[in-house]
Amino acid sequence: MKLEGSTGSGMVVAALGNLMEVEFQGDICQGEMAMIHLGNLKLAAEVIEIAGNIAKIQVFEDTRGIKLGCPVTFLGNLLQAELAPGLLTSIFDGLQNPLEQVASVSGLFLSRGVYLPPLDRKRKWGFTPVAKIGDSLIRGDSLGWVPEERCKHQIMLPFSYLGTYKVVSIVSSGSYTIEEPLATVIDSNGKEHTLNMLQKWPIKFPLRQGEKIKPSKMMETGLRILDTQFPLLKGGTFASPGPFGAGKTVLQHHLSKYSSVDIVVIVACGERAGEVVEVLRTFPHLIDEKTNEPLIKRTVMICNTSSMPVSAREASVYMGITIAEYYRQMGIDILLLADSTSRWAQAMREMSGRLEEIPGEEAFPAYLASRISSFYERAGAVRLNNQMIGSLTIGGTVSPAGGNFEEPVTQATLSIVGAFLGLSKARSDARRYPAIDPLISWTKYLDQVGIELEKKLPGWTDKVKRISRILREGDEIGKRMEVVGEEGTAIEDMVTYLKSELYEICYLQQNAFDKEDSYCSLDRQIELFKLLHEIYNLSFHFDSHDEARAYFLTLQSEIKNLNYLPFRQDNYLLAKKAIEEKIKMI
Ligand code: ADP
Ligand code: MG
Repeated sequence: MKLEGSTGSGMVVAALGNLMEVEFQGDICQGEMAMIHLGNLKLAAEVIEIAGNIAKIQVFEDTRGIKLGCPVTFLGNLLQAELAPGLLTSIFDGLQNPLEQVASVSGLFLSRGVYLPPLDRKRKWGFTPVAKIGDSLIRGDSLGWVPEERCKHQIMLPFSYLGTYKVVSIVSSGSYTIEEPLATVIDSNGKEHTLNMLQKWPIKFPLRQGEKIKPSKMMETGLRILDTQFPLLKGGTFASPGPFGAGKTVLQHHLSKYSSVDIVVIVACGERAGEVVEVLRTFPHLIDEKTNEPLIKRTVMICNTSSMPVSAREASVYMGITIAEYYRQMGIDILLLADSTSRWAQAMREMSGRLEEIPGEEAFPAYLASRISSFYERAGAVRLNNQMIGSLTIGGTVSPAGGNFEEPVTQATLSIVGAFLGLSKARSDARRYPAIDPLISWTKYLDQVGIELEKKLPGWTDKVKRISRILREGDEIGKRMEVVGEEGTAIEDMVTYLKSELYEICYLQQNAFDKEDSYCSLDRQIELFKLLHEIYNLSFHFDSHDEARAYFLTLQSEIKNLNYLPFRQDNYLLAKKAIEEKIKMI
């Protein structure tokens, strides 16, 4: 998107970290992209404040060597994403540089100042036209489509085109590059525009055409603790805060592999230096066990490289969400995962400090909460012009220092998301994975998902709520028992405690690294859930605490073993029979 009349140029007059002051002539605007010229190198930057003829710009690269007087040119466009076929399987940085190609130009130690076109200009795509001469289109309407991996990539009237456009010519089926003309349209003033597959969108603005509707479909994850206890909706939002090492990244990897969506956008906002490298190395080789295809085929990755300063983290978050929104306009389901939003918030804090803004709580800027909510608000289910429904689900991790959930980023996130999956150190220390704490986590989607699941198991929502109560009671009794000992606890209380432990160990815990247990289909979850529930309905008469404990221990290992076997419904029926037999003998 070109800004009309932008013609700025200038030179660096002051520098503070990656914040530069530039004296400029001409017209520039807030958010405009700029290039600082350092010998042959060009370093990308963005205008964040203008006062008189001084602009403050944040540089997205290492600023070593920038001197007073370095020339700056303003580019006349905002930070924008290129949107066209070829995004899937790509790995970009926050400015949409294709990292693999950059690496092949500059070597594995990515050097600064290398900018390549995000998408391949030479690759041809098989285009099937849908629009016809004489059709009236508005933004987002399809001109035709190309196959991209498993998805029908719609070539849409650019979202920057406001008003109605009439198609005057369109090519026939064939192979075209993303820059070759496909169609000509005229606007209401009779002006002609030539369209190709490539469109651009400024990443800080939400991209949405159509009516936002209430999310209603469940997003299955194959994790029992989520699907049963804290379910998610397609188009909903969730956050998973947790201290260092609690399993946030493992959880996000699980979701990227198994969630029931068409496309996953991963924003890796470098928690640890090696982590992004690890993702880059392993992810391209992972296989989707359900389709036997490489997972990367349904994935777009945005990674922060360590050579980039913190300002690039913010760009990564917006870049990821814009690409996700673009795909949502094709009527499919997208999941965006951001790890970790705390790193992004820290980048905001750093920049706000340099700008000498008045600090808010813990020195985060006063606009922290509104930035975080405008990020999550870009999620949602949308009814498109053609009545199809697309959804974008957003899940972010938060890494509060010391696991203190009272800090501003966690609190701001909590007030906006639809589900809160709190990871606890105590659970991960006890190797109870996933370490999502059922006593502090919540979801607003339980009743909505219940409508879907009641059809599979009548009374679903009530049963789930009953289990939540047992977990809570079990936890209290467990704590009391630590003080007064088993003997000081009534046997009925002990049984409640053992029931909650049974659910913990056989249901909530799941081994992310076991072939069978890592993904538990909804049908399988329901069989196991039913089995446990039937056990809870039995009446137990134990003569001693030891007897109760011994009985539940065998039960535990029998049921847990089922989780490691390939799924067969009769296994659960047999287990149920065996348990009933045993009960009779008590
Ligand atoms: P975080 O991102 O919260 O700092 P990680 O996701 O990197 O933490 O997890 C740290 C370690 O905990 C992992 O390397 C792994 O060994 C273990 N872990 C986390 N989640 C699981 C899980 N679901 N199953 C088994 N091990 C896990
Ligand atoms: Mg992590």
